[in-house]
Amino acid sequence: MIEYALPLSCAAAAAAVSARWNWWRPLRRGLPVLMYHKVGVPPPASKLKKLTVSPEEFRWQMGWLKRHGYTTLLFREMHDILEGRRPSPEKPALVTFDDGYANNAEIAFPIMKELGVKGNIFLVHDTLGKENDWHDPATEARLKMMTWAQVDELKASGVMDFGSHTMTHLNCADAPIEKVRAEMAEAKAKLKERLGFDPVFFAYPYGAGAYLPKVREAAYLAGYRYDFSVRQGIAPWPWKIEMGPLPRLFIRGDDSRFDFHLNMTRGKARF
Ligand SMILES: [Zn+2]
Repeated sequence: MIEYALPLSCAAAAAAVSARWNWWRPLRRGLPVLMYHKVGVPPPASKLKKLTVSPEEFRWQMGWLKRHGYTTLLFREMHDILEGRRPSPEKPALVTFDDGYANNAEIAFPIMKELGVKGNIFLVHDTLGKENDWHDPATEARLKMMTWAQVDELKASGVMDFGSHTMTHLNCADAPIEKVRAEMAEAKAKLKERLGFDPVFFAYPYGAGAYLPKVREAAYLAGYRYDFSVRQGIAPWPWKIEMGPLPRLFIRGDDSRFDFHLNMTRGKARF
């Protein structure tokens, strides 16, 4: 592993070496799946500042993907590649947002549209057009969630695609399995009806249950074909369902730019 042997201060040189050597290993770098929640400025009292990335850093990170030659995919494009209907780009990446906050549409979307970066949002069906209610109200101000009008606008732009994050942000490890099955199926059916396509991408709220066989089986039986955890790492590419849920790269609000580089190239920034 030549890249590991290089001193960290030689990051730029490492990137240059990787670019030089890419031609003989186009698919071995895996699929980095970036996981975001909120883009904006967190309220001062928030204990969950790590879930909010500033607009400045978000813009720098999206620019980094472009500068380093990544092709960002919509869910539907990833599905087509893995079904053999279109070729894989040399350096694919997937930008994902959990929950469907209004700031995704109001702050992240314009930046991505300007820079030509595509993304994907896991929606919590019952909170669309309302506020989130899954954080501690003592420290976290409630946040506006996207409206259906915003979903429609983003969908029409070709910049964002959508997946499911249950009906109510259900903890799929704690809830009775019947409830888990019901929410997974209902969210898929209702999103399908409103979005006009069949959403087969799913992210487990809190990452809970992703590695419990009965929960993962429930997602499959509900008709999902791509399931995402919050385990840190670069996903295998090409990915197959029997490899387990896709790990992701949690992009934290307090990450440095070097952390971002380490996440993208090593699969984690904090050792
Ligand atoms: Zn969530």
